[in-house]
Amino acid sequence: MTYTISSDRDAFVVACLDAIGAAHVLTDPHDTAPFLTDWRRRYTGAACAVLRPGTTQEVAAVLKLANEHRVAIVPQGGNTGLAGGATPDVTGRQAVVSVARLNRVRALDPHNNTITVEAGVILAEVQRHARQADRLFPLSLAAEGSCTIGGNLATNAGGTGVLRYGNTRELCLGLEVVTPQGEIWDGLRALRKDNTGYDLRDLYIGAEGTLGVITAAVMKLHPLPAARVTALAALASPHTALEFLALAQQCAGPLLTGFEIMSDFCLRLVGKHYPQLRYPFDQPHAQIVLLELSDNESEAHARSLFERMMEQALESGLVEDAVVAESLAQSRAFWDLREHIPLAQAEEGLNIKHDIAVPISRIGTFIEETDAAIAAAAPGARMVTFGHLGDGNLHYNVQAPEGGDARAFLAQYQAPLNRIVYENVHRHLGTFSAEHGVGQLKVDELTHYKSDLEIRLMRAIKAALDPHGLMNPGKVLR
Ligand code: FAD
Repeated sequence: MTYTISSDRDAFVVACLDAIGAAHVLTDPHDTAPFLTDWRRRYTGAACAVLRPGTTQEVAAVLKLANEHRVAIVPQGGNTGLAGGATPDVTGRQAVVSVARLNRVRALDPHNNTITVEAGVILAEVQRHARQADRLFPLSLAAEGSCTIGGNLATNAGGTGVLRYGNTRELCLGLEVVTPQGEIWDGLRALRKDNTGYDLRDLYIGAEGTLGVITAAVMKLHPLPAARVTALAALASPHTALEFLALAQQCAGPLLTGFEIMSDFCLRLVGKHYPQLRYPFDQPHAQIVLLELSDNESEAHARSLFERMMEQALESGLVEDAVVAESLAQSRAFWDLREHIPLAQAEEGLNIKHDIAVPISRIGTFIEETDAAIAAAAPGARMVTFGHLGDGNLHYNVQAPEGGDARAFLAQYQAPLNRIVYENVHRHLGTFSAEHGVGQLKVDELTHYKSDLEIRLMRAIKAALDPHGLMNPGKVLR
């Protein structure tokens, strides 16, 4: 293919052909299309090229060229992010840098309990390598078959194991990063203690590609549990779910690795769109909690602990009914119910999504107050409320009234309902983005809810590390 050089951008693309090979510089619209629309199909951008470097040195070469030619870069991993962070703008002036080809596991140290992986390794692959070494890599989320560890780090992803193991930040010991100037920072330290000045690693984690490109990371591993017990418990309200959480933490301590809440309506939606996934109880119940214990001793030990806990919960009237998975298949079926909620919701039509967190103790009150405010503002709106109760993180989504026009509902109510939800979150000292990040979707919320000082400090960091504003412009900070 020949290129006509009529701008600095064209010169950049041509220079990239030499730097990473023509096969990895995509410009044909057919080839670039999958990289230009986000997973939720909310944003479609354009790019002067999609670049697929295969090594850290190649990423460095691309960023050096981008700096010289002043071309903005949009890093991309598995493109499963939910805030539009990996989608370029519509000008066609930005270049997408996909790290998918940086997919090597560089080392696994069972004694240090660490794995060193390149940024493009798919999350499920990290889990698999850990398992092969008799270790657990506990980060787990429904997109794990396609998202990359670099994307998980850049968004500081949460998922279902945060209660016990923390989010991605807490699972990371060291990073390798290419700066916007094309330099390679080797911070691949596998240390659990290292108090030597500013923590650069923590700056890049959660920065959503606005400060540099993460090319590799040292991640923590944990012992592989000998047994897992999964159960569903039926409860009357989020308040009782909180009391049950306290009881479960008291009884199981660190063995409690999952505590997810789903409202009855969530499960009814799943039943409607995925009838093969059976409602687990004979009677409907207002709230269902999915809980999981992971035990390093034995299945018998986990089950006896679990039974003691459930006895107390049933006797004290916290739990109305419960089912315990008797097999791996049944445990999978319980998780399937939970993981099909977003899919069922999508089948039901467009909806207004909120990924919020408040202090755990306030969740019950937050739901009550916000449900009432939404019912008053948008009569008939249906609340799809589920999430990681043990982390104080709710996916608090609003669906159009039954039989209503979802698109029209979204157009009319998105702005006012967002304001109701985020104002309540703010009042309860929470956050408008618990685990999905800011991307381009929530840039206005960030401006609205962060203090002037916090925004000034963030801008100072951005200006110091990326003075020409070439890293993922328009994301996180406007
Ligand atoms: P991308 O989508 O490609 O990128 C996301 C952001 O990171 C962008 O801003 C991008 O520029 C930046 N980025 C990507 N790679 C790099 C890199 N190497 N260096 C610098 N910046 C980079 N999230 C949760 O936290 N918890 C969940 O339970 C959860 N469930 C999900 C379920 C589904 C079905 C889906 C589709 C998504 C879910 N997510 C969840 C969203 C989650 O953030 C992403 O799935 C994942 O963490 C992003 O990884 P990715 O490789 O796809 O990144």
